[in-house]
Amino acid sequence: MSQQRTRTRTNKKKLKIIPLGGLHEIGKNLTVVEYGEDILLIDCGMAFPENDMFGVDVVIPDFTYLRENSHKIKGLIITHAHEDHIGAVPFLVRHFNVPIYGTKLALGFIKLKLKEHKLEARLNEIQPGELIRIGCFKIEAIHTTHSVADSLAYAITTPVGVIFHTGDFKIDLTPIDGATIDFSRVSQIGDDGVLLLMSDSTNSMRKGYSVSERSVAVSLENIFQKNDKRIIIATFSSNVHRVQSIINIAAKNGRKVAFSGRSMENMVKLATELGYMTIPAGCQIDISQVRKYKDKELCILTTGSQGEPMSALSRMAFGEHKQISIKPGDCVILSSSPIPGNELTIDRVLNSLLEKGAEVIYSEIADVHASGHACQEELKIIQTMLKPKFFMPVHGEFKHLMAHAELARQLGMPDSHILIAENGSVVELTKDKARVLPETVTVGEIMVDGLGVGDVGAVVLNERRGLAEAGVITVTVVYDSATNELIAGPEMHTRGFTYMKEYGEFLSGSKEAARKALEKAGRDGVTSIPELRAICKNAVRKYVSDTLQRYPVVLPIVMKI
Ligand SMILES: [Zn+2]
Ligand SMILES: [Zn+2]
Repeated sequence: MSQQRTRTRTNKKKLKIIPLGGLHEIGKNLTVVEYGEDILLIDCGMAFPENDMFGVDVVIPDFTYLRENSHKIKGLIITHAHEDHIGAVPFLVRHFNVPIYGTKLALGFIKLKLKEHKLEARLNEIQPGELIRIGCFKIEAIHTTHSVADSLAYAITTPVGVIFHTGDFKIDLTPIDGATIDFSRVSQIGDDGVLLLMSDSTNSMRKGYSVSERSVAVSLENIFQKNDKRIIIATFSSNVHRVQSIINIAAKNGRKVAFSGRSMENMVKLATELGYMTIPAGCQIDISQVRKYKDKELCILTTGSQGEPMSALSRMAFGEHKQISIKPGDCVILSSSPIPGNELTIDRVLNSLLEKGAEVIYSEIADVHASGHACQEELKIIQTMLKPKFFMPVHGEFKHLMAHAELARQLGMPDSHILIAENGSVVELTKDKARVLPETVTVGEIMVDGLGVGDVGAVVLNERRGLAEAGVITVTVVYDSATNELIAGPEMHTRGFTYMKEYGEFLSGSKEAARKALEKAGRDGVTSIPELRAICKNAVRKYVSDTLQRYPVVLPIVMKI
């Protein structure tokens, strides 16, 4: 008993790292750093739904642990402006009045989101190199390079030691804005001693070094120079530097730039307002003006590099864009790489562009894209500079975490110092010990479908899957409330069956099955609506499964008038 109490007391003095998202996945990053009565949050991102999550717009982390410990939450620090790091901020702000810290650009994107959700939050701008104090934590922001401007790593001084979180990063020695990682500071922090390194694992399976953003600019410039076609480039709108270099190249080669797609237009507006982007005078034209210019005078920058069906590039490819229709002789550049899972939609767009006679250039045939994440050699450099005592790979699927762990092993880190955690794990640290506790906290995927947060659960999702795969049948019957006699129906409507040859037969057969079951229920004296609904539903389901071996969603509607 006394031993137990002692253990509880010392537990309080241990530092806990609890990932609530971002491990065994790429998406919805959210990490809890907890010591005693203080919780610091790092990032609050969303994930995109899997293909079989019908009607789900975004997926956010489960906030249960935060709700249970809401009094401890002292602040949220943001590493950078990507959706997998800031996408769930509005959903967090709705429940917790937490101060948020980030660079001007990250906060700019967050502000836009909050405005869409009609929310406000306490936003605190920080500069790289700045020191802030949140609860018992002393936090230093360190400039890094990534595929969005103004990305940060954090060195967090806790009562048990320094934790270094890289955020998403690559080592780009020739970034577009000239600002490289603050190496001298990173190595100083390493010399002073790092207890734990948490590092980006996205590209831990890729050998060598990532390509510099500057060399993408060089390939793009080559394409512009030998071309008098109309150039249409799709890229991630958040990649401020990529968009900036395309604008510069276009201006240099005597082309006007027009932007298409809401997120692209929003980003350009925000980034120019905040001073992250400059558009040479007279270079930008409105998309409605493109007709006034010759093909060789135009560069159109658009969203849709992932083949998103509603995006501007998709609409162009399928002839649904108001101003731009693809014609033979257009040059379309996909300055991106497919996010796993998007290959099919991208192929559809690509095929349609080719069918319309466009030349299409993408990352497999030219260096028109560079990843924003460090490859193996870069990961080794950061680890070597920081010389952490313990190492925890983050931001990656399981295979990425394991590959990253292997790199640490190669650099001489003992196995017992490598912490492979999953969402919900509690990693406990003291000055000289670290371990992943056997117990976990509640984690999960909360699905947001535009109407509500978290009301799409497994049941709803299964139903939606059922609707998509097996079809839906509604059965309507009307009873006389005084006599309990069936006075109309069963009336049936279906979705997903009409292609069948024997549709008429199927319809009358299932109606007959429902009628028989309801007549029997009548004889048995069943009069309650829920019971009649169940009887109706079961009869139709049985008929369909017996005749078609299909299991559609059956919606019985029983009315009494
Ligand atoms: Zn990122
Ligand atoms: Zn990320």
